[in-house]
Amino acid sequence: MSTKSKILHDYDYNELVTLVDGFGEKVFRAKQLLDWLISYKNENEITNIPKKFLQDLASQEYIFCPLEIYKEFKGKDATKFLLKTTDSQLIECVLMQYNHGNTLCVSTQIGCRMGCKFCASGESGLIRNLSNGEILAQVLLVNRWLNDKKTDLGKNSFERMITNVVLMGSGEPFDNYQNVVKFLKQIISPQGLCISPRNISLSTSGLVPGIIKFADEGLPVTLSISLHATTDENRCKIMPIAKAYKLKELFSAIDEYENKIGRRVCFEYMVTPENSTIKDAERLGKLLSGKNCFVNLIVPNFTHGQAQTTTKEQAYKFGGMLKKYGLTTTIRRSLGADIEGACGQLKRRILNEDKK
Ligand code: SF4
Repeated sequence: MSTKSKILHDYDYNELVTLVDGFGEKVFRAKQLLDWLISYKNENEITNIPKKFLQDLASQEYIFCPLEIYKEFKGKDATKFLLKTTDSQLIECVLMQYNHGNTLCVSTQIGCRMGCKFCASGESGLIRNLSNGEILAQVLLVNRWLNDKKTDLGKNSFERMITNVVLMGSGEPFDNYQNVVKFLKQIISPQGLCISPRNISLSTSGLVPGIIKFADEGLPVTLSISLHATTDENRCKIMPIAKAYKLKELFSAIDEYENKIGRRVCFEYMVTPENSTIKDAERLGKLLSGKNCFVNLIVPNFTHGQAQTTTKEQAYKFGGMLKKYGLTTTIRRSLGADIEGACGQLKRRILNEDKK
């Protein structure tokens, strides 16, 4: 954490202890403050902390709620939120409601510098990193939104809170390494939301140094690799990062991660007519042979203006080819297609509309 940070969600418990001490308050205030921050309440809603201390924090411009809902869009089985930061930037997160629980897809950066050809977030480059507190606040704000909704619906209604988190929104998590790791530690912590690492997935475009470093953090979250092609040549066409890190290097880093963490790795593979041939199945079978992994086949939810060229049937067909090589596949339910669920799409449209 930068010593100058004014976003209270950037502070972990130990840092809050130091902060409250600096204001001459007792240590137990840190836990009280943390509980309020987790419930995403602002200073006017807090009841068991002396007003004077809260006023002191506010007068020194400490921020209790760093994000607010700018717009929300309810789809059939997903809700997309456009959130406004304190410096008036917009970020996106998507709530997906499954039978087994609620998953929130969070952003880790505003924009992204990776420039993947299929993604709207990378189109205008990186604007800035999100702080750990701003990533955390996405989860807490939507948790509160679910909670408030439950209250609105009456006490007999049942609305589960966020049970799973995926770092798959706008941004490359390993390009914002320190803040992402601190966020993960906060959300896993028993003093935080206590979400099991097994319920967290981190998706990377393949930033090799980040994967190697992350293997030493000892955080058993599911690592998802955006693969999308079976040769360096084809991968370079859609993911510029493939020019810097070839498949050989990428797979050696993944092996290191798998050996140290012992968790099954997920490979994201967007099925297009160009990358789902018999040859691709054969190459993928070879690349993943002997790995503790599964392949998540994605039917692309293309960015505005692009044609939808793949169907779920084609993804099933490619999955069938992969079975021959002993690979386990899943097909991602395309939640949120009706609300421009792919990262960056909604923000781009709203910004364009607001300009008119
Ligand atoms: S897919 Fe992910 S890594 Fe690639 S440009 Fe989009 S946000 Fe960045």
